[in-house]
Amino acid sequence: MSDSVKEIFATARSAGRNLLSEVEAKLALGAAGVPVTPTRLATSAGQAVEIAAEMGYPVVLKVVSDTITHKSDIGGVELNLPDTASVQAAYARIQAAAEAAAGEAAFGGVSVQPMAEPGTEVIMGMTQDPQFGPVLMFGLGGVLVEVLKDVAFRVVPLEPHDAAEMVREIKGFAVLEGYRGAPPADLGALESILLSLSEFAAAHPEVQELDLNPILARADGATAVDARIVLAPA
Ligand code: ADP
Ligand code: MG
Repeated sequence: MSDSVKEIFATARSAGRNLLSEVEAKLALGAAGVPVTPTRLATSAGQAVEIAAEMGYPVVLKVVSDTITHKSDIGGVELNLPDTASVQAAYARIQAAAEAAAGEAAFGGVSVQPMAEPGTEVIMGMTQDPQFGPVLMFGLGGVLVEVLKDVAFRVVPLEPHDAAEMVREIKGFAVLEGYRGAPPADLGALESILLSLSEFAAAHPEVQELDLNPILARADGATAVDARIVLAPA
């Protein structure tokens, strides 16, 4: 398990990159037991169509680029694509958007993944604190994190009770308990992801930064649909 993570890191490093692609980050986290949408790289519209057919529609296409960090900001994310023609058109639009925003060299193809079941968006992250080492963060997605800074932190390694406290201590916890008739989120699934991330961070000190933004929290589980990993300079 850990061997495949090391291999993924080595591949990125040998290509001169400290930033893993979405595909690489999801492979590494998937190997560490984190539920992620299966995600593959396509470097042509034809290949994107082939992968989409294998995965089953609807699919999502996202720009793959070493230099574009916020994919949707540049028009680099196309959700809920229902068929071959829409995948071909989305591929062309994403390529044009990436080249317009960041230059021709910036476009490295697209990632293809199934559309995930809907859920409440939450985020988890890890940063290296100079004093405490790896620290995990948990919060609700979107505006709540960006504007209200409604997040919980714990130093790695986490015990199960730490994970349980983290998901409950944010101010927006009521959102996860279910509101306006929405079913409560599967808190156990969120806690288990936090514990997997804690193990992952402890096992791989070369991971400088990690973001799962967002994870979709449902009544029956949780799945990360976006992942970012930055390695410390070699
Ligand atoms: P970025 O954060 O780089 O802009 P994301 O990969 O997070 O790009 O995609 C943007 C948004 O699209 C996500 O916040 C989420 O709401 C939605 N999204 C992304 N991937 C999926 C997916 N596989 N299924 C459903 N929704 C998705
Ligand atoms: Mg994201």
